[in-house]
Order: sequence, then structure tokens, then C-alpha cells
Amino acid sequence: MTLPAGVQRRDIGGQTVLATRGERVSEEATDGEWREWDPRRSKLGAMLEHGLDTGLDGDETVLYLGAAAGTTASHVADFAGPTYAVEFAPRPARDLLDVAAVRPNLFPLLKDARKPETYAHVVEPVDAIVQDVATRGQATVALANRQFLHDDGRLLLAVKARSEDVTADPVTVFDDVRDQLREGYEVLASTRLEPFHDDHLGVVARPR
Ligand code: SAM
Repeated sequence: MTLPAGVQRRDIGGQTVLATRGERVSEEATDGEWREWDPRRSKLGAMLEHGLDTGLDGDETVLYLGAAAGTTASHVADFAGPTYAVEFAPRPARDLLDVAAVRPNLFPLLKDARKPETYAHVVEPVDAIVQDVATRGQATVALANRQFLHDDGRLLLAVKARSEDVTADPVTVFDDVRDQLREGYEVLASTRLEPFHDDHLGVVARPR
């Protein structure tokens, strides 16, 4: 598995786990400055556990869509460069602000990821988009934000099947999303995120 610089496998609490170095966010296990990155609580963590080649080396500029309370965005900010974290729900965004207060490279944006024009004046071109919005229209959100991605950048997308259609077979939903993405991306790899997340697909894509 290729891990970005700044992400390590470490023995914490008697187990070998993914970890980043930074301020503790919640109840995660720690060892000195290192804190566990739990793939059961993070789609990007699960993608790394599955060995997907994310193209992340560390120090990238990142646009994170669907930051929620900052669980995963905090780990990204621990190893990446400037990290713009978009979240539209005020409640998780409050916690995100606390997480960002001790991370000078994490910039929370209380914005709707379906309306990139509302943050286009703030966000610089990025090396990676990490998306985990878990709402209907996940491919549309990824396509709308493609404008921020460098030509050689990467989209790291988590697709939640039930957010698109609760009744549909996830395999069909994932095929549809991959097809829609082709309008603006080349899909390089994808894998289901079980056992960490049921009925989720992790996708690595680049702009085309
Ligand atoms: N990525 C987070 C993590 O690993 O810590 C968890 C994200 S949670 C599954 C999905 C989040 O996306 C929710 O907090 C939700 O409010 C947010 N979201 C959904 N649609 C959004 C949109 N259009 N714009 C911004 N945030 C959105």
C-alpha cells in the first residue's frame, strides 16, 4: 500500500493502525503526537486500507467536499498542505471550526458543494478533491467542482449507493455514477469499501 508522506502504520493501543500526526480531535487512540485514523469512520481511510493508489504524496493542496465535523478532513490537513473543507450543515460545521482552529492549513467553508461559484473566489487550484457528501447527485457534485482540479490532479470520491437510490442495487448505482463521471473524468480505479463501509464505492479519477 502506498501511503502519503505523513501517514504511517503505527502500533497504537496494541494494534497496527493508520495514523497521522496532529492535534487530537475526538476519542481516537494516540501515541505521542500520532493519532489513529480509523477507516471505519473515514471513507478516505478505507480507500487507503484497500490499497487504492490515491496519488497523494503529502503536502498537496486539497478541496474536501462534505467535511462534516472534520474527522477525515483533520487527518488530511495533518499530512497535506492547504485544505479547503466545504460543509453546508451548520451543526457539524461548528465542530469543524474547532478542528480548524488548531490547524492553520485547514480552511472551513460553510458552503453548498453544488454551488462552487459561491467559493470559487477563495479556493485556489488543487491537487486533489476528496468528496464524501453522501447525498443524491454525487457525480454531479464531482463534475461541478472539477474546475478546481489541476490537469494532473486526482478526484478521490466516496459514493454512497443508498444516497442515490435506496431501492436500487448498489452495483447498478455504482455503474451509473462511473458513467456520469466520464463526462469530466477518467476513472483510474474503484473498489467497494466493505468491510469498513457497506454499499460504498471508493473511486480514484483524473480530469479529462
Ligand atoms: N467526510 C466526513 C468524514 O469522513 O469525516 C463525513 C461526511 S458525511 C458522510 C457527509 C457530509 O456531507 C454531511 O455532513 C453533509 O452535511 C455534507 N453534505 C452533503 N451535501 C452537501 C453539500 N451539497 N454541500 C456541502 N456539504 C454537504
